Amino acid sequence: MIRVRFAPSPTGALHIGGAHTALFNWLFVRREGGRFVLRIEDTDRVRSTKEAEKTILDGLQWLGITWDEGPFYQSERLNLYRRYAEQLLENGLAYKEGSAIVFRTPREGATYFKDIVWGDIEVENGSLKDIVLIKSDGMPTYNFAVVVDDHTMGITHVIRGEDHIPNTPKQILIYKALGFEVPEFAHLPMILGPDKTKLSKRHGATAVGEYRNMGYLPEAVFYYLSLLGWSPKEEGDILYPQEIVKLFDLRDVTKRAAVFDLEKLKWINKLFIKDKSPAELAKAMRFFWLEKGYNIDDYPESYLQDVVAILQGRAYTLQELADYSDYLLKESLNYDKIILAEFIGVMKGEEWNSLIEEIKKIDPFVVENIDNAVRSWLNKRGVKLKGVGQALRYALTARRVTPGIFEVMTLLGKDRVVDRLERAVSLVVGESSNWQDA
Ligand code: GLU
Repeated sequence: MIRVRFAPSPTGALHIGGAHTALFNWLFVRREGGRFVLRIEDTDRVRSTKEAEKTILDGLQWLGITWDEGPFYQSERLNLYRRYAEQLLENGLAYKEGSAIVFRTPREGATYFKDIVWGDIEVENGSLKDIVLIKSDGMPTYNFAVVVDDHTMGITHVIRGEDHIPNTPKQILIYKALGFEVPEFAHLPMILGPDKTKLSKRHGATAVGEYRNMGYLPEAVFYYLSLLGWSPKEEGDILYPQEIVKLFDLRDVTKRAAVFDLEKLKWINKLFIKDKSPAELAKAMRFFWLEKGYNIDDYPESYLQDVVAILQGRAYTLQELADYSDYLLKESLNYDKIILAEFIGVMKGEEWNSLIEEIKKIDPFVVENIDNAVRSWLNKRGVKLKGVGQALRYALTARRVTPGIFEVMTLLGKDRVVDRLERAVSLVVGESSNWQDA
């Protein structure tokens, strides 16, 4: 049976690179059928923390990367590593250096493996130094613990980042010395920033949790990560995890380093936001609305879904969506008084009052009726829609750009529309002495 593992060191957040590795392991094992093992490589007692571990597990869960076994902790397996190191000592394949145990690398011959992504790789053993197995503090080194674990956990496919290619021949020598069967290896391409250097903090957010907080959908991040080093045979629509699983083939992964392009991720996120049902999206929005201080519990669920539905085509992130929905979820608006005066100034106060009276009569307060009522009032008065439309928009939303103003009005409802218009007009009339000349 196929068994893969993801083996993070809990020394920091789940970064894009780690998530990418976990995701390719997951796609492979869900495609082929098998088990996904989670192993926490916490032998660095100083740098490993429980908080980091929690962040990593949360990040995996958020992305929908599920594991079947674990988490297992290397720190709980120290005796196991020691036993195998002593076996190598007894066989004369390792020696002691103080209290450390060191593997004697053969001087002759070469070590070969066929990487699923990179093809044939061969290294002269003479070019490798001896390998510390157990450090003088009693802790195993990465290269040793990983071999003991991957063998005892029955791992058949080691899928990890390209940066581990130089470690692989060393690990293979240890497998052989211990009489273990060597697993298959697949090294995933490196992920670069836009400037073609290894992706790092300098390039902006690298932790998965930061994307979550910025309002990226897990499915969007999932899809984008799957495109780093791989692509479906047929270009097309956005794909959800279960659809990617069906198309995924580890043999199609490229060696070419992949560039992490935030603009592309944003674009993909927009497509997923658009694709979501308002009900699902409203649920995802709760966190972002609450963060903005909107009292969303004052509104019925159906209203929140209508808010999402009217805005979901425009936003690149859920943060943006929360921003755009302010006038629909906040009681009072913050106008820029100068802009308001300019917009409201397209008509006299008396005309505004007349329009407001007309609006009060609309029943039911739906797009078609609002549209008809406002247009026929304008026709009668010989006033153009453009200026009044912009004024309505600004007075009702304190924004210059929104979805269609009649739709916004429907959503706000007659009472809020009338209140906001009356307040906007009185704010301007009250402050402008030459209002009548406007
Ligand atoms: N803890 C190692 C890392 O995070 C695991 C490497 C491996 O998969 O072998 O890089």
